[in-house]
Amino acid sequence: MIRLLDQVLGHHETIEKLVDSFVRGRPGQTYLFVGPSGVGKRKTSWGLAQALLCPQNPRGCGLCPSCLRVGSGRHEGVLQIQPQGPAIKMEQAKEILDFLSLKSLSGNRVIIIDQAQLLNPQTANALLKTLEEPPEGTFFFLIAPSVAGLMPTIRSRSRTVQFKPLSELDLAKRVKAPEWALRSAGGSFEKLAQLQEGPEQDLRRKAAEILALFIKDTDFLLSEIWRPEFKDRQQGQRILSYWLGYLKDAVYLQEGVKSQIVSLDQGPLVKSLAELPRQKLLNWIEKAIQAELALNANRDAQLVMEEFFITSRDPII
Ligand SMILES: [Zn+2]
Repeated sequence: MIRLLDQVLGHHETIEKLVDSFVRGRPGQTYLFVGPSGVGKRKTSWGLAQALLCPQNPRGCGLCPSCLRVGSGRHEGVLQIQPQGPAIKMEQAKEILDFLSLKSLSGNRVIIIDQAQLLNPQTANALLKTLEEPPEGTFFFLIAPSVAGLMPTIRSRSRTVQFKPLSELDLAKRVKAPEWALRSAGGSFEKLAQLQEGPEQDLRRKAAEILALFIKDTDFLLSEIWRPEFKDRQQGQRILSYWLGYLKDAVYLQEGVKSQIVSLDQGPLVKSLAELPRQKLLNWIEKAIQAELALNANRDAQLVMEEFFITSRDPII
């Protein structure tokens, strides 16, 4: 049996409210699901599609032919739209309107629009009237990271449902992962999976190695060992974010708030950082945040880091 709503982790209250509104009648027809990626917005949309199409059970029975077809992603009454490249294009609006005009379908219809923030203005305009007043039995689930990137015209026509990050406990129920990864994932399965990928783990280790050298080696800047790692700005951003994590953990360790420490995989490094004067750590944290901002503003990563290392070396106490 595949009842998709049962497979969604967390968000119980949200889901109950939605199912309840479908059962009692007068539900909304256009919903906007917002929240971080990897927390269950798409799964919930498919689960609700199953529920809305099942002839047996208001939550979906998970057993009937309709539920099985939705469960395998192949139901003629469900249309999922995903961006083609950088945008959801005009042809896709047409695909939606064609789907709604199909006479051969009976029963409810569900349209799931993934990454709705990528609806380009023409596409959005072509859909506005339909989103405002969908045909009877038609339900839209729009999925986006936040309401911020969405056109106000879309927002005003939708019922917004906020999906919060999952708890570490929820993540641990589904995925076997080390404690540091669970804590670093920010409540997202997607982030958790990314953290556990080999190349990302290598980068995390590399980040720790470079930071350890930086602490110890007075010739660090000359050694140039750091330079190739900051050739790519995005990689540089990730290294910096790991450093910030290690530095903050060192402060937590000094404070004795062990429950806040994230980088449990880097115990020795965090410990040696925690032996440094507090003022020095805080100074580095501040400088690292500034460097992050500079990288976000597209500045050359190697230049930014050179500046970081030089200014961080200054005697500050
Ligand atoms: Zn069913």
